[in-house]
Amino acid sequence: MPVPSHVARIALPVAAVALVLGACSAGGASAGRLSVLASFYPLQLVAQEVGGDRIDVTSLTPPGAEPHDLELSPAQVSQVGTADLVVYLSHFQPAVDDAVAAAPPAHVVDAASLTTLVPLAGAADTLDPHFWLDPSRMPAVAHAVADQLSTIDPAGAATYAANATALSARFDALDAAYTSALATCADRTFVTSHAAFGYLATRYHLEQVAISGLDPEADPSPARLAEIGQLVDARHIRTIFFETLVSPKVAKTLAADLGVDARVLDPLEGVADPSQDYFSIAEANLSALKMALSCS
Ligand SMILES: [Zn+2]
Repeated sequence: MPVPSHVARIALPVAAVALVLGACSAGGASAGRLSVLASFYPLQLVAQEVGGDRIDVTSLTPPGAEPHDLELSPAQVSQVGTADLVVYLSHFQPAVDDAVAAAPPAHVVDAASLTTLVPLAGAADTLDPHFWLDPSRMPAVAHAVADQLSTIDPAGAATYAANATALSARFDALDAAYTSALATCADRTFVTSHAAFGYLATRYHLEQVAISGLDPEADPSPARLAEIGQLVDARHIRTIFFETLVSPKVAKTLAADLGVDARVLDPLEGVADPSQDYFSIAEANLSALKMALSCS
């Protein structure tokens, strides 16, 4: 190249800076990477696995926080408008829906448009958001994220497609493990804190009985607790499940009163322990269900 070496040495860093500024359209993204916002943990996992090191993913719900009642800071609201891609689930976190509506991001993946959400049992006007606990519903999200990332960053298209395919295979394998392990269980009814496991129950032909409704923070009435107690007696249920992100007090007290075990069944709404992820927690959930339901 007919350029004096000292000019090249000066010109290269300037070009590199320009490239970084051009690619870094939203706060938080490192040099050349796309900035992706996920509204809560399972969607963050999908974005991270599909985008790999070509993207920087931030979750709007802090790690270990319960996502149902998420409130966004003004800074987060403006991040929604400037991210390269926002991955969220409409009808789940109203603050995120509002932010997306107020300042529509250039690219969005709304998981609610990729899976059929069904009304919560006993509440016809409320859609049950917890689709991520049925792993067979997750590959559609992975492929939609890959499609959007490929539109923004065509040079990465092959990587995103390969990552989505690999991630989908892991969800499919998990689904197969659940199907097989839960096929033959002595019991099919399980008692949980809040109604997070409806899609899981439907997929694997189990019945969920939730102490609280959709809201993990809601306190059940004494009448509801009595009703659960009668059901536990009548069906000889030996385990009541509690969660990791909300107080286990109600479930543990009820289990103690009824003389049954209290164990963790994690709704995967957030991960407090960085050594765990969607797959390790889903495996632990499967072990807990097998034990509680006496699956052979
Ligand atoms: Zn929930």
